Amino acid sequence: MSVYIFIDHSEGHVKKASLEALSYGATLASQLNTTAEGILLGTLSTDPALLGKYGITKVHQAAQESLNALDSQVYAKIIADFVSAAGDSILVFSNNLSGKAVAPRVAVRLKAALVTGAIALPDTSKGFVVKKTVFSGKAFANISLNTPTKVIALNPNAYSVKEGEGKAEIVPLTATAPAPKVRVVSATAATGHVPLTEAEIVVSGGRGLKGPENWGIIEELANLLGAATACSRPVADAHWRPHNEHVGQTGIAIAPNLYIAIGISGAIQHLAGVNRSKVIVVINKDPEAPFFKAADYGIVGDAFEVVPKMITAVKKLKG
Ligand code: FAD
Repeated sequence: MSVYIFIDHSEGHVKKASLEALSYGATLASQLNTTAEGILLGTLSTDPALLGKYGITKVHQAAQESLNALDSQVYAKIIADFVSAAGDSILVFSNNLSGKAVAPRVAVRLKAALVTGAIALPDTSKGFVVKKTVFSGKAFANISLNTPTKVIALNPNAYSVKEGEGKAEIVPLTATAPAPKVRVVSATAATGHVPLTEAEIVVSGGRGLKGPENWGIIEELANLLGAATACSRPVADAHWRPHNEHVGQTGIAIAPNLYIAIGISGAIQHLAGVNRSKVIVVINKDPEAPFFKAADYGIVGDAFEVVPKMITAVKKLKG
């Protein structure tokens, strides 16, 4: 039984969440005394053999450029066919947008037990039990996977990337891709320089910013910190910001190392998407704002005074 990790990539680069999945899969494989191997559909701008430094011994690559754009149905068919031929396996995905689209489809095709939102390595002392978050991160559940092949989707930022030495062997994967049922007609790039789901730092604004014309300070602070920008739902609903920046229960769930919430009240539906952030900084002029209860650092003050001061301070620090 091998551990296979889905290598998720975009524009030639492996996503950080996928590097975490590779590190997780490699540690799991060494726990189980087996090998960790990657599955790569499409091509990278760097040599895939270099992924060996994350602990995998082989990369099974279907190197058709047509596979560079993720098509969940095509990907699921190729991966499920490959794993069926390989025999009982453990498959690891990141529980990011790609993993959420592909992992359940693969699990259904393989009739395999699936756990999404995993946050720890499986406990194999009593079967195969994986800890996951439930109720928007408010509680945990331990899920027992009892099928011969198991599928795990690991929450982004739940497991640290472990980098060592080593080169992986590239093994061609002959994929018979089914005709896609969905054709992408056009794609619009998300705003901002850093993709929200990949960002280590996120600067987010709420209705307290008063209007779209005031987002300059959010963007300036984000650019200085190398951060992505996000917003609360009413802000996206009012078209102050695009919907792909909306975080929360009905938006994107993120888990950056630092989340800076500016003029956001901290409603439970907002917190549901950001409460896995490692450090939360809240700037709000109302000392009673609920967000302060979830904050690691809180600044009671007017965003239009505090944020420009932060910008000046960061500029000074950067020299
Ligand atoms: P407000 O609640 O209006 O808060 C604005 C905050 O800004 C206040 O705390 C105020 O004190 C502060 N403020 C005002 N002026 C300043 C200033 N000058 N400087 C500093 N602070 C200032 N919301 C989400 O965000 N994401 C979701 O996914 C989501 N899903 C939902 C799903 C459902 C089913 C429902 C019912 C609601 C959902 N909501 C979601 C909405 C959520 O309940 C809140 O209404 C929303 O998060 C509030 O947005 P806000 O904090 O930007 O605005």
